[in-house]
Amino acid sequence: MAEAMYDYVIVGAGSAGCVLAARLSEDPDVSVLLLEAGPPDVNDNIHVPLGYLKLTGTEVDWGYSTAPEPHCNGRRITLPRGRVLGGSSSVNAMVYIRGNRRDYDDWGVSGWAWDDLFPYFLKAEDNERGASDWHAVGGPLPVSDQRSGNKITPAFVEAGVEAGLARNEDFNGAEQDGVGMYQVTQRGGMRASAAVAYLHPAMERPNLTVMPYMHVDRILFDGTRAVGVEASQLGQAQELRAQREVILCGGAYNSPKLLMLSGVGPAEHLTMREVEVLLDQPAVGENLSDHTAAYSVWTTPEPESLLLALEPAALEEFTATQTGPFASNLAESGGFARVGDGAEAPDVQIHVAPIQIVDEGTKDPEAHGVWVSPCLLTPSSRGSVRLASKDPTAKPIIRNAFYEDGADMTQMVDALRLVEEICAQPAFKPYCAERFTAPGGESDDDFRAHAAATTYEIYHPVGTCAIGSVVDADLRVNGLEALRVVDASVMPTVPRGNTNAPTIAIAERASDLIRGNPAPDGAAA
Ligand SMILES: Cc1cc2nc3c(=O)[nH]c(=O)nc-3n(C[C@H](O)[C@H](O)[C@H](O)COP(=O)(O)OP(=O)(O)OC[C@H]3O[C@@H](n4cnc5c(N)ncnc54)[C@H](O)[C@@H]3O)c2cc1C
Repeated sequence: MAEAMYDYVIVGAGSAGCVLAARLSEDPDVSVLLLEAGPPDVNDNIHVPLGYLKLTGTEVDWGYSTAPEPHCNGRRITLPRGRVLGGSSSVNAMVYIRGNRRDYDDWGVSGWAWDDLFPYFLKAEDNERGASDWHAVGGPLPVSDQRSGNKITPAFVEAGVEAGLARNEDFNGAEQDGVGMYQVTQRGGMRASAAVAYLHPAMERPNLTVMPYMHVDRILFDGTRAVGVEASQLGQAQELRAQREVILCGGAYNSPKLLMLSGVGPAEHLTMREVEVLLDQPAVGENLSDHTAAYSVWTTPEPESLLLALEPAALEEFTATQTGPFASNLAESGGFARVGDGAEAPDVQIHVAPIQIVDEGTKDPEAHGVWVSPCLLTPSSRGSVRLASKDPTAKPIIRNAFYEDGADMTQMVDALRLVEEICAQPAFKPYCAERFTAPGGESDDDFRAHAAATTYEIYHPVGTCAIGSVVDADLRVNGLEALRVVDASVMPTVPRGNTNAPTIAIAERASDLIRGNPAPDGAAA
């Protein structure tokens, strides 16, 4: 078995892993190894924004799904996850949202309040609108306005205003509430994944080694100190040693999975799976939460949807100017609203895509249409990640437990009613001519049945290695040495918004913690 030694071994080249690899290797005196189970990010469908529609179920996706969800008609819900350089940031919808100040303050963990993280959102950012109290330029992560030119998604914004919601030009500014167009992590109409933004510019450094197709099977320990990992590449097992630290960046499903495969997790469960227990840590894999989402779909007579991508003119336009349907991130517009009585911040987010989604996206649309999807920003239900077997290649058992807390279903019914109200407004009516996927009637039971039939997870899993239970405030795994988790799994609860920018900000701050650097300047706005 070959063996090699590095200062830091990072597991997973996703949103967090790319940031860490780039930041830690800025110091030429340290050696950094970045291990990624998937391939290099060479597929054009990663980089041409609309292309990600074609990536689910391919070699760049882990191919996970939930266990049968009891309150969703027993459906196994598809859970796409990037398995490629860039991780999920190579396959995501590119919406740039930081969340609400309240999210981070409510975590109640020293060092992770909004005022602590805001300078790191700025450090990461390169916003094409320029610098302001709320935004920065010059960071690695490009943030841009929409370039698809589609007419359906701006019409939703007008309809939201007609329905009484505020118009919001910047969801990452002073107010989060309201309707508007989303900014996206793109540059010049091309996807800016964490790999493109952080890793590619650092790849040539002699102190950074990147190994794709390298599946990490377990963490190696000397007593309670992590000293490396055991991994396999093209069937060849290897031990890769870390002098300073092993850092897990496998994401909210695979980081807890890897801890459990390595004997760190709920002892009873590990024993059942015949894994030798190193540390009984009941919180590993618990507390899974995500933005529970449902959707309605309309057919539209207007020839305006992303079906236009099939016309030769669309490809010609994208090739010439990187605009038009191929530049679309799908979820182009939407907004934040409050449906709960006395809600102190938005509790619902809406994503609007100018396309007819058929059979949960498994079939290509045949007609022009629009998809409107509300999700719950502060769901109460919690799920879990568990091992199916001690075989490292086995998929984990993932239970989202959607609607286990009935309050979530009540809120979803309210959210779907809000969508109905907006879509009935004059500005949007022309695009909602015919129901395609909709509640069967007007009663709450009809709306509950519709939610059960259409609910999916909106790709923002967090909480399975949470700060405060699994890791400490410096993201070190409690009870062990030289082992951290840095990815979306450390968020104790899911922020109000899409999770890529928050994961990147967390990784930026973690890099400074690990390097012993002071926080960047940046007064909290
Ligand atoms: C379809 C989709 C749409 C989304 N849309 C948006 C959006 O519009 N805006 C937004 O902000 N967020 C969005 N998200 C969520 C966002 O992309 C994620 O929250 C974020 O990328 C999580 O980062 P991470 O570092 O925690 O994990 P990931 O980016 O998933 O990275 C984990 C990496 O670790 C690798 N890995 C895992 N296990 C192993 C192992 N054993 N050995 C080696 N490598 C391993 C994986 O292959 C992967 O590359 C979306 C996600 C998906 C899947």
